[in-house]
Amino acid sequence: MIIAIDGPAAAGKGTLARRLAAHFKLPYLDTGLLYRATGRRVLDAGGDPSDPAVAESAARSLSAEDTQRSDLRGPEADRAASQVASIPAVRAALLDFQRSFGRTHGAVLDGRDIGTVIFPDAEVKLYVTASAEARGMRRWKELQARGVEADLATVTTEIRERDEADLARSAAPLMAAPDATRIDTTELDADAAFARAMEIVGAKTK
Ligand code: C5P
Repeated sequence: MIIAIDGPAAAGKGTLARRLAAHFKLPYLDTGLLYRATGRRVLDAGGDPSDPAVAESAARSLSAEDTQRSDLRGPEADRAASQVASIPAVRAALLDFQRSFGRTHGAVLDGRDIGTVIFPDAEVKLYVTASAEARGMRRWKELQARGVEADLATVTTEIRERDEADLARSAAPLMAAPDATRIDTTELDADAAFARAMEIVGAKTK
C-alpha cells in the first residue's frame, strides 16, 4: 500500500505520516529531506540554490548521509530547499529514488507532489492543511522546544512565503490531487488527525 500525503509546510504531515507508517508497518520517507539536503549541498559549496546546473548536480550526487545531517532545518535550509525544488532537473533527479522507495514494500511518503507526480496511483491520498496562523504557531513551538529563539510573526511570514513559492512554481507545484481527501488540522491535534486519517484509509482500502 502507498499512502501519499501532501500539503503546505508545518501542516502536520510528518507527524501523521510517521504514525500511519508505524501502524501499518510501512517504510516512511520524508521527501522534503531530499530537497533540503540538495539545497544544503549547494550552500556548502558556496553556490546559488536557484542555479539549475549547480542544483541538479547536487541532487544527482546526493547520498543517504546527506539526508541525515543535523542542519537541514531552519530558515536558510527551508529557503534553499524551496529554491532547488522549483528546478525541473532537480525534481527529475530525485524521482526514481522516491518511486523505488515505495515500490517494493509499499510506503508512506509525505511532500508536495506525492499524490500528483510520484505516485499518482497511490491507494490512499491525503491532503493535509491548516491555517497559516496555526502552522506558524506549530513551527514556532517546535523551535521553542528545540531551544531556538524565534519571533512568531517572522516564522508565520516565512511559512507563507514558502507556500507561495511552492504553489506558484511551474514544476510540480503544491497541489491536492483530484482524488485526495483533505484533512484540515487547524482544529485537530495529532491524535484526532490520526483518527481521521485511519477512517479515510479504512474507507479507501475496504
Ligand atoms: O516538507 P518540507 O517542508 O521539509 O519541504 C521543504 C521544501 O522542499 C518545500 O518547501 C518544497 O519546496 C520542497 N518539496 C517539494 N516536493 C516534495 C517535498 C518537498 O517540492 N515532495
